[in-house]
Amino acid sequence: MLRLTDLRLPLPDGPAHDFEELRSCAASRLGVPPDEIVRLRIVRRSLDARKKHGAVFLYSLDIACADEQRVLAHAAPGVALAEDRPYRFPVSAPDDLAQPPVVVGAGPCGLFAALALAQAGFAPLLLERGRSIQERAGQVDAFWRGEALDPESNVQFGEGGAGAFSDGKLTTQIKERRGRCGKVLAELVAHGAPEDILWRNKPHVGTDRLRCVVAALREEIVRLGGRVRFGARVDAVTVRQGRCCGVRLGNGETIAASCVIMAVGHSARDTFAMLHSLGLPLERKPFAIGCRVEHPQRFVDQAQLGRLAGHPAIGAADYKLAHQAANGRGVYTFCMCPGGQVIAAASELGGVVTNGMSLHARDGANANSAILVGVAPGDMGGGDAPLAGVEFQRHWEQLAFKLGGGDYRAPAQTVGDFLSGTASRRFGAVSPSYAPGVVPAQLRGCLPDHVCSAMAEGLVAFDRKLRGFSDPGALLTGVETRSSSPVRILRGSGMQSLGLPGLYPAGEGAGYAGGIVSSAVDGLRVAEAAALALCGVPVGD
Ligand code: FAD
Repeated sequence: MLRLTDLRLPLPDGPAHDFEELRSCAASRLGVPPDEIVRLRIVRRSLDARKKHGAVFLYSLDIACADEQRVLAHAAPGVALAEDRPYRFPVSAPDDLAQPPVVVGAGPCGLFAALALAQAGFAPLLLERGRSIQERAGQVDAFWRGEALDPESNVQFGEGGAGAFSDGKLTTQIKERRGRCGKVLAELVAHGAPEDILWRNKPHVGTDRLRCVVAALREEIVRLGGRVRFGARVDAVTVRQGRCCGVRLGNGETIAASCVIMAVGHSARDTFAMLHSLGLPLERKPFAIGCRVEHPQRFVDQAQLGRLAGHPAIGAADYKLAHQAANGRGVYTFCMCPGGQVIAAASELGGVVTNGMSLHARDGANANSAILVGVAPGDMGGGDAPLAGVEFQRHWEQLAFKLGGGDYRAPAQTVGDFLSGTASRRFGAVSPSYAPGVVPAQLRGCLPDHVCSAMAEGLVAFDRKLRGFSDPGALLTGVETRSSSPVRILRGSGMQSLGLPGLYPAGEGAGYAGGIVSSAVDGLRVAEAAALALCGVPVGD
């Protein structure tokens, strides 16, 4: 196969270029007749809209030609042999494995750890405190309609983990050379995600498609000999001769394990406390808090795309903005959800937590994004306590709960009122999408001063980059506290807990990942390390 990069095509009239259009352009770059190209695969596609009148898609393509060596010998720059680095799990399960590996948490990290172990014959047991995705979706809908919050099964907890009710963005900053990112995307596609996530510059799945993918991944784990249990909260780990040898569930049942992968996410505050009480090394970690901002999606489309707004090949526009505030804090937009909805993402009674999600079509009226400001360990109070960040988050979540009226409605304020320091009494052009509803309020009552001043400065700075961003009618809803983990569960040699061999802290909750893909990749890495150790192969750090 040949890899052709930097192929520029003007935007198509419809939603995508077809095979013949790509083939004829690729052929003319390669200097061959189109019918010499027998197969063609899109590796990457990104939009270059800098010249708004002449926007192009930039493609990288893998191409199978009749005589590749001849084409390569005469090729112009931008043509090379395609190098595929397929993912390989390092070992297969030994025949004499007495106990299964136990994976705790069925978020992206735990699901991919369990899938990789199941594929290698380790028949893992996956334990999840929340409910299956179908049951959980019903519970979450009921909560958003005003029914009670289930602290065990909600937007943070349950099959699919924290990102199941999300935009399903699959972008990641991680640099990965072993094919793990490709493995994650390929498995998502094999289990029902849209194929274009393999080549889009900013791939996303949408909560509607993601929920089906999550269920299909679980079915595959079971088909391969793994087991999955819901409503199975791990309350303790068991230790023999200084090694983790199993878990105890909330119902008192103990389960023996050959090793335990702890992939519990950033909201498992009780599990963090349990690990801390065992004396395992945990440390507080910087994170960020703030609120969600909502604009009409058509404003974002116009501001970002101008004449291209609404083009069927582009879809709803997004943005990513950052500013360094005078108080030294970074303020930035995060987890932008085009055509999406602000959601109630609490997992504890008496706290309000916001987040955002979209359907695959991203066709809702509003765009939303978090606006976050960094929180350093020194801001959290609590001396050196490793769980001080948890208390800090909880404090602001509880204040937001009170400001919202004590029934999980969220406090909200227009950008105009936030900037002028007055409590909102009514809203402007943007109608709030947050269910179970919002209460006009003063967000300074539920966010730290340094966060509010950086946010106010950031809003004005963002307006200079995206004219209209700080429109007085834009809406802020708070509080957004769960953007990443407030703790790190320290790993040592072979990715095991520094304090307890046989225990593998993993994913976002352990402080080693952030986002769906990076958490899934961490799940793969930890599964590989655990499998190697079970096969008696020494593992490096
Ligand atoms: P989690 O997904 O948090 O999974 C942990 C699992 O462990 C949970 O299912 C939990 O119930 C379970 N668990 C916890 N404690 C126990 C216990 N004691 N016993 C048994 N089970 C337990 N990221 C993106 O990349 N793109 C997005 O578009 C995106 N949108 C998001 C939208 C929302 C609303 C949220 C909340 C997050 C979003 N994220 C997004 C972040 C992303 O979801 C997380 O980074 C990712 O899910 C972390 O994966 P994880 O497996 O490490 O942890």
